[in-house]
Amino acid sequence: MRWYVPMALQATMVLAGSISPSTFTAPGVFPTSVFTKYYNNPTATSVQVQPVVSDPVTHEVYPLDLTNPDTIPQQNSVDPHPLPPTASPDMLYNQAVQQINSIHNNPVFGDSSCNRCLATLEVMKFVSLAAPEQGPKVVVALCELLKLSSSCSTTHGRAGLGAVITQVIANMDAGGYDGQAYCQNFLGQCPAPPTATLDLGKWFKKPKPNPLPLPKQRSGKRLKVLHMSDFHLDPRYATGSEGNCTSGGPCCRKTSFNQASPNTTLLRAPRFGAFHCDTPLALAMSALQAIPALTGTEQTGFAWSLYTGDLVSHDSDNQLSRKYVEYTETIVYDLFKRMLGSGPVYAALGNHDSYNQAQDAPHSLGGALAEQFSWNYNHVAGLWKHEKWLPDAAVTLARSHYSAYMVKRVDGLRVISLNTDMWYRANYFNYINMTDSDVSGMLRFLTDELQNAEDAGDRVWIIGHVLTGWDGTNPLTNPTNLFYQIVDRFSPHVIANIFFGHTHEDQMSIFYANNATTISAETAGALAWMGPSITPITNLNSGFRVYEVDSATFDIMDAHTWKSDVNSYPDLDSQTTFGPVYTYEYNTRETYGKSISNWTGNDPLNATWWHHVTEAMEADASLVATFNTLQGKGSVQTKPCTGDCIAAKICYIRSGSVSIAKKNCKPGFGSVQS
Ligand SMILES: [Zn+2]
Ligand SMILES: [Zn+2]
Repeated sequence: MRWYVPMALQATMVLAGSISPSTFTAPGVFPTSVFTKYYNNPTATSVQVQPVVSDPVTHEVYPLDLTNPDTIPQQNSVDPHPLPPTASPDMLYNQAVQQINSIHNNPVFGDSSCNRCLATLEVMKFVSLAAPEQGPKVVVALCELLKLSSSCSTTHGRAGLGAVITQVIANMDAGGYDGQAYCQNFLGQCPAPPTATLDLGKWFKKPKPNPLPLPKQRSGKRLKVLHMSDFHLDPRYATGSEGNCTSGGPCCRKTSFNQASPNTTLLRAPRFGAFHCDTPLALAMSALQAIPALTGTEQTGFAWSLYTGDLVSHDSDNQLSRKYVEYTETIVYDLFKRMLGSGPVYAALGNHDSYNQAQDAPHSLGGALAEQFSWNYNHVAGLWKHEKWLPDAAVTLARSHYSAYMVKRVDGLRVISLNTDMWYRANYFNYINMTDSDVSGMLRFLTDELQNAEDAGDRVWIIGHVLTGWDGTNPLTNPTNLFYQIVDRFSPHVIANIFFGHTHEDQMSIFYANNATTISAETAGALAWMGPSITPITNLNSGFRVYEVDSATFDIMDAHTWKSDVNSYPDLDSQTTFGPVYTYEYNTRETYGKSISNWTGNDPLNATWWHHVTEAMEADASLVATFNTLQGKGSVQTKPCTGDCIAAKICYIRSGSVSIAKKNCKPGFGSVQS
């Protein structure tokens, strides 16, 4: 083996001891001959010498600016800074799905499903903006990942809710309040965000009058007003099909089946309806024949009628269409007109009276999307005009304002109809810009109309579909919080009554002053009546109500409710001599008012009276049991209300907004349908 000695070491060894000279002193002036040209004087000593350098490869002569100490660049905008190529729509889709999977599998998120959900929405937002046609496909992928449905491509695809969800996610604050609320409501993956703060000083144009104007004097003359709700006509009802199904949607359809008994029908769908089925035409006609006969209005008709929404059956979205919605609106309004006699019907749109179901978009979306539901507003407004229920001004307003309108009657009452999808939690479009409690402008419209009514000394009835309070499970927090403050501002002198539907159950909500910080007879200001449904869905009897209304104050002096026992319908099928029986269910004053003193028969069933009813309920739980029975219209399926249910029910009656219900009441006892 040969030893190698490094060259540097060899030189050191050679030179060691004989290095000369041992120092070198450089010249004090620049060796100007090194370069041929200079940008500055090479003999100068106050600045560094700047030689002219040329590049033998590029043949470029480098400019002085490149090295000039006075002109150092702060941004290189000359050289190329390469970017990845624009992704094709397919690539965006593939990458989005991959990223959503990474987010769901990355252990760094730990138990925080909320963080995962927000990160997922961020991915979806930018795909929805960049390649909108890919949006529904990503929605389907997420649906499959989270197992939201057994048929995601149908329920969440382009022809399902995918297009709606893509629009909404593209427009929402995905990483902020909107995203959190979306993940909470639709995916159960975030805590609910807090109630947004309101600036009521700016909201109201005038302070509440103090003292309030003197109440109007009652005329003593009583008008009969019909309140119907939630017809849910099922024109596809198939008599003899499975009436006790597990197949989803309404039962009593040709395709209905029960998993426990796939080959043998458990309950043969009766001709007149069943507990898990919407209203067959046979039941619709029975109800509309019963109403004039039972209410003594065969000759006179009603002074007017209220219809608080939901005409269309509970089909899943894939079975629905604009045409199906329009068909139902047409036939049911036409039947109202012909069966109920004279007197206008004031209707509000329900969440089922739209396609996609429950969806209505705010005008603030802009462009064509702002008008995507106008086909429906134009259709119902056209029908209301055709039936001569509304004057032209109200028809025009309804067309341009989500079907909402104000009509001033010749007797002085103003009826304001609202599209309550704007606070329904299942309307995806409500998840855009949610910290604004009134994105659609529906509540601005309501407030301005109430101010006009106050200025004119008129009283108002407000009608809508989705209730604002009760157990707080149906509407959204922020809009109903604002609605509550509006009701307080204009009660009791302007707002005489409020009417909703949607739950299909017989319920009430009392509105109190100062956001219900003190709950008492003195602070009770307004009352919302939830009208019982015509449809039996689910486990309910069919019913309707008639109010006796003072013709000057528009206070409700008495209320009468009728019902039909759905449990009796199977027995009607063996004959054609008679159909369903509608019977008188209860008189509101007599049922709840026995122990309320200082209240004469000439005092109205207003919020104060209803507060006394809740006090009577606190003193006597049997009144709550009665309320619970009537809530289901006396259905044999209604289970008793005992234990915690008793206080909860009283609490729901005292809750007119989501915030108040959630703050005050024990959840879980709102419905009698299960
Ligand atoms: Zn309904
Ligand atoms: Zn509804």
